Amino acid sequence: MKNIIFIGPPGAGKGTQAQIAVERTGLVHVSTGDLFRAALKQGTELGLKAKGYMDAGELVPDTLVIDMLLERLDKPDITTGVIFDGFPRTLEQAHTLDTTLAARSSQIDSVVLFKVDDDVLLKRISGRISSKVTGMVYNKYFDPPRDAEGNDISDSDEFVQRADDSEETVRNRLKVYHTQTEPLIDYYNERGVLHTINGEQAMEQVTSDLLQVLDELMA
Ligand code: ADP
Ligand code: ADP
Repeated sequence: MKNIIFIGPPGAGKGTQAQIAVERTGLVHVSTGDLFRAALKQGTELGLKAKGYMDAGELVPDTLVIDMLLERLDKPDITTGVIFDGFPRTLEQAHTLDTTLAARSSQIDSVVLFKVDDDVLLKRISGRISSKVTGMVYNKYFDPPRDAEGNDISDSDEFVQRADDSEETVRNRLKVYHTQTEPLIDYYNERGVLHTINGEQAMEQVTSDLLQVLDELMA
């Protein structure tokens, strides 16, 4: 069992790289943001409770996030380990994750920090779109979806923007990241499991740096 955390500000490329990391490692991708969006789409009580916080760019309260995560970890597909994407985001979440994994004779083996400056993030998030059909994430400026002839089809109505990707909400999410999530970097660094990747590089270069870390971990 191997467990990896992807940590980084909104728009740093965690989800994009997680898709590739899953193929390489066979670990299961667990994104708390995706779980909340799925709950909201299904209209569950949890989804409705989370919505107000997400729309405002605030963190959903720890108890809600933790209950949802524990439920996810009890699913039968969690056999080889997990890539945690967007969780933990507070020290309390990190402590709970440690005790939860310890109770399963497991632990966090590696934490990958995707480092990207705020100005780059604002541009990335303003261009983030995803397909209503496949859920795949693209970027209007950096990685547009294309048709069979290679034409940019970003403007087709197949692609939508997340409600919380407006500039105002993003600014708040960045503030929240700096105050509530950044302390986790020291927490994991002190344990010697932190790997920092320059997330401002082109996607392929970020992937190549990431694969080095993953291959070493899975060896
Ligand atoms: P991004 O990929 O842009 O960082 P996410 O999809 O991870 O965003 O999260 C979207 C929103 O869901 C967050 O702004 C927050 O409101 C909520 N959320 C997701 N994960 C957590 C978490 N671990 N703790 C608290 N809130 C969370
Ligand atoms: P996160 O999950 O950390 O919030 P995403 O993986 O959703 O971030 O990426 C945010 C946006 O930036 C997406 O539109 C994605 O296509 C784009 N993106 C991801 N990595 C890069 C990169 N290295 N260079 C340019 N754009 C990127």
